[in-house]
Amino acid sequence: EDVMVPAPPRHRVSTKGSNVPNHVDSFQELKDRYGLSSHLQTNLTKNGYTHPTGIQSYGIPILLESRDLAAISPTGTGKTLAYVLPILQSLGAPSSSSKSNAGSGVRALILAPTRELAHQIHNECLRMAEGRKWRIVLFSKATAATLADKNARDKVDIVISTPLRLVTSLQAGNLALNNVRHLVLDEADRMLDAEFLSQIQEVVAACSHPQLRKAVFSATLPAGAEKIAMEMLQDPIRVVVGLKDT
Ligand code: ADP
Ligand code: MG
Repeated sequence: EDVMVPAPPRHRVSTKGSNVPNHVDSFQELKDRYGLSSHLQTNLTKNGYTHPTGIQSYGIPILLESRDLAAISPTGTGKTLAYVLPILQSLGAPSSSSKSNAGSGVRALILAPTRELAHQIHNECLRMAEGRKWRIVLFSKATAATLADKNARDKVDIVISTPLRLVTSLQAGNLALNNVRHLVLDEADRMLDAEFLSQIQEVVAACSHPQLRKAVFSATLPAGAEKIAMEMLQDPIRVVVGLKDT
């Protein structure tokens, strides 16, 4: 049974920010407006994703237009795909296919508070990336050791990690984030609380590319975390999805 339905019937969505891009009512509209690649359309269909959820309808156009985003939407509303799809659509050729290393290396970084969640996000990335040769790495002790080698590192496209693991590699000089264009904090309420904040700040500082685009996703964003998020983001758009009858 498919409980995912498009924005209008069940979700109330509010947006705040400058020049908010129009939402889409279908994945077809993403093709028409943004040239959504055929392999992503195929993988959406394969996964049974027929209609975008509320946060996807609003969030995907915002991210495809390279805007910073704070997205607040209840658990189970498809937040993962809302950031994975724009990342894959704008990633370009796999790093491993690049002859010079210019413009390659880790270009998207997704941080989550637990290993289990990072693992789930990795799976969603792999499902949606099927058929393409991007290297999508779930950061662990083993992969961290592999990526200490610069040649291996330069072939990676996307990294998914918990904060501490990543900071340890950064501090050891075993990871470069200067080419990251897409930084996502998932479960941002936890990522921006005292436990992780200084690690997150260290990661953000290492993501030095001028075209860095940042997004935070969460089911809830308490005032303290929201203030930190809004200071971290540039000219952000805030999208809040609420269930209509709650
Ligand atoms: P959240 O992060 O908001 O809690 P998830 O990204 O974990 O939600 O997604 C919850 C479930 O919904 C997953 O099983 C996912 O595959 C499914 N899902 C996501 N988007 C869609 C969609 N557009 N149509 C149908 N199912 C979807
Ligand atoms: Mg989630």
